[in-house]
Amino acid sequence: MSKATIPVQDLKRHYNSMAGDLKGAAQRVLDSGWYVLGQEVKAFEKEFAAYLGARECVSVANGTEALELALRVFQIGPGNEVCTVANAGMYSTTAILNAGATPVFVDVEADTLTMSPNDLAARITERTKAVIATHLYGCMADLDGILAVARARGLSVIEDCAQAHGAKRQDRMAGTWGDIGCFSFYPTKNLGALGDGGALCTDDQGVAERLRALRQYGWSSRYHSTFRGGRNSRLDELQAAFLRVKLPMLDRWNQRRQQIARLYNQAFRDTRLILSKLDDDSNVVHLYVVRLPQRDQFRQLLTEAVVGSDVHYPVPDYSQDSVREQLGGHEPLPETERACCQVVTLPCFPELADSEVDQVVSAVRAVLKRLPA
Ligand SMILES: *Cc1c(COP(=O)(O)O)cnc(C)c1O
Repeated sequence: MSKATIPVQDLKRHYNSMAGDLKGAAQRVLDSGWYVLGQEVKAFEKEFAAYLGARECVSVANGTEALELALRVFQIGPGNEVCTVANAGMYSTTAILNAGATPVFVDVEADTLTMSPNDLAARITERTKAVIATHLYGCMADLDGILAVARARGLSVIEDCAQAHGAKRQDRMAGTWGDIGCFSFYPTKNLGALGDGGALCTDDQGVAERLRALRQYGWSSRYHSTFRGGRNSRLDELQAAFLRVKLPMLDRWNQRRQQIARLYNQAFRDTRLILSKLDDDSNVVHLYVVRLPQRDQFRQLLTEAVVGSDVHYPVPDYSQDSVREQLGGHEPLPETERACCQVVTLPCFPELADSEVDQVVSAVRAVLKRLPA
């Protein structure tokens, strides 16, 4: 029998590791007779806010709408520019365009692939109202640098934490540095539901109150719409109950991700792979991503060696057909272009066994020997 491919992630194993607790949570919700925005949602918001050290958490239907509502709550829309990166899978760009604003693409740092504060400073205009800083692959962006630039120009700072649940620097969690932190609970995320989900966190109670209105038709109270720009973006009780089961395990899962990434980095340190930094808890390794110029050939050989891989993300946002149609062509951003051609994601998830890590290591080292220089 041929060996099964080691997957980049495996939601079935993740589910199996806590199936009983999840079934119990589902049963509790089914029996309750209340299915959207109820006690489970309230409890989860409280627990997640406490975990983050934020005053308020407002849950929504998904991470992209969290970003969109973060812009809307600051009344950012047509005529306004929002700075973001182009190597992070179109999420922030989708939110900016849906809010009616114009994305302005900022290049990334060569070592972390997150937003360059220097390039940010160069791209701000009098129309710029906000910056969305994405913590990519679990690695926190340079918030000190970004906040210094943004605060000097009076811009709102929105953190995209959809890949960085639980990341922290100097004991301060990702999501609590800027004005609003946005999260996705898509099933593959470090903290994932069993369907779609999202949340925003903030220390500003007025902002939280407006967000609660915007996620439900702009209602200040039932059937009274007071806030413009409202929509329907609510979290289900079922998803909130699942998230409450999982939240207490998030730190342990992140530690296992970091452990696997450290094993890989150690094993690949003398190869030609460009590795990500893993110094501290500012990287919770949502994805283990390495870089090399011969990426596509490398992946093909890995497939033959029954090791799964993926590319996050192959196309810069400004080169996507939908964006080109709306905004026209864009000058290439050098580090962004390089990243999109070179990044490759290797298997890394909490339930990955040590023996599988060894298999990936051997396969990667063998494949690299066969690649032309
Ligand atoms: C997953 C993701 C999102 C969007 O989340 P959805 O819940 O799928 O809308 C936003 N930003 C980043 C960086 C993500 O990885």
